[in-house]
Amino acid sequence: MQSGKRILILGAGFGGLAAANLLRGNLEPEHRITVIDKKKSFMMGLVNLWVLHGDRILEDSATPLDGLTSKGIEFLNDEIVEIDARSRSVLTKGRGKLESDYMIIALGAELDPERVPGFVGKGFNLYDSQQIPALRSRLLSARRGEKVAVAIMGIPYKCPPAPYEASMLISDLLLQNGKRDGIEIDIYAPTPVPIPVAGPQANKDMVDMLQKQGINFHPLHKVKSVQDDMLVFEDGRSASYDILAGVPAHKVPDVVSRSGIAPEGGWVPADPFTLKTAYERVFAIGDIAGLQPSGYAMAVPKAGIFAEGQGKAVALQIIHEIKLQMGNRSSSKQSQQNAEGLARFDGKGYCFFEVGNNMASYIEVDFYNKAGPAVVLHPPSASSYRKKREFENDRVREWLAANK
Ligand SMILES: Cc1cc2nc3c(=O)[nH]c(=O)nc-3n(C[C@H](O)[C@H](O)[C@H](O)COP(=O)(O)OP(=O)(O)OC[C@H]3O[C@@H](n4cnc5c(N)ncnc54)[C@H](O)[C@@H]3O)c2cc1C
Repeated sequence: MQSGKRILILGAGFGGLAAANLLRGNLEPEHRITVIDKKKSFMMGLVNLWVLHGDRILEDSATPLDGLTSKGIEFLNDEIVEIDARSRSVLTKGRGKLESDYMIIALGAELDPERVPGFVGKGFNLYDSQQIPALRSRLLSARRGEKVAVAIMGIPYKCPPAPYEASMLISDLLLQNGKRDGIEIDIYAPTPVPIPVAGPQANKDMVDMLQKQGINFHPLHKVKSVQDDMLVFEDGRSASYDILAGVPAHKVPDVVSRSGIAPEGGWVPADPFTLKTAYERVFAIGDIAGLQPSGYAMAVPKAGIFAEGQGKAVALQIIHEIKLQMGNRSSSKQSQQNAEGLARFDGKGYCFFEVGNNMASYIEVDFYNKAGPAVVLHPPSASSYRKKREFENDRVREWLAANK
């Protein structure tokens, strides 16, 4: 007699939730799907920008992960302290050892604000939702003549367009507040163009959009340290600021570095199409994965939409394999090939880039395009802005049986 399989999903973020739901919807109840997360609730990173702009309050934005239980997915609110990829088991703080037949590592990227000396305490962390209400208050109390700096302090970082989106929403907020004319906004990036992966046209369009809103883009500025009213760059230049909103450097979560499944200082290596790691029936998806297709200079960007696509691709592979093992073979070779094709991550994604005034651009990405990553930035529209709202609500409803 065949017994049910145990699937362990580490992390209830974009990738983990997408994988868990697709698995549950396609596997018999005898197969146990368990999601572990040290957080009790889920909130998309993009909500930070809504809170900053005043479209949402933080207290209304998180959705309890308990919603998984009503869908037949086991949720364990616990911290993973050790991962043994060889035996597909983890050690948790509260429940000890948990074993599995399939393991999906979806632990995301951690923020490392300490990496740039002086940033903590002097600047606001744009990627830490808890710091956004204070940043908003400070912006609302900004005086004419003050300077706002948005600084990207390390690469890779999640959602490459987000700091640019933030600078436009800050501009819009100051405009609504009647202060925009007297306040300078600068954005500092270590890269030569805003989003290197996006190619020349999309980058030109983005710089034009920033210029139109009077935002100064400063490429090739790597922040070395933060002083009370000054950013110091690695090449010796400096720039003054009054309000600093920074995107800190990112790092692989400590539990992953400790467990030896990623090279020192690096991300978990996985196949860019199947997301398989070097360990049997262990996958790495989303921000934690280092996906480097051969012949590509750049790794797959860290974004929720990609984490979701990768989570679905892995879920389909597991479903397919379990169904075959359970004797539930596909009726034809064609349908088997279709199933295998669908189970590959195709490198495609999209996002909505808010520009203020309830408008958003639509960005389409085909990262695995044969001639190199293809990115199209569509002009801002009210309908893309509405679709961004639906983007969040649809997923929260589908993944956690809740409405936003
Ligand atoms: C301001 C901002 C705007 C963004 N906008 C967009 C956007 O418009 N579109 C888009 O596609 N993406 C956007 N992103 C990026 C997106 O949020 C991330 O890329 C996405 O969340 C990655 O998903 P993931 O599943 O890999 O990891 P995450 O969603 O980060 O989930 C990882 C989970 O693992 C858990 N975890 C970590 N370590 C442990 C441990 N030891 N034990 C237990 N649990 C643990 C964490 O608590 C977390 O819940 C934005 C991000 C930010 C910050």
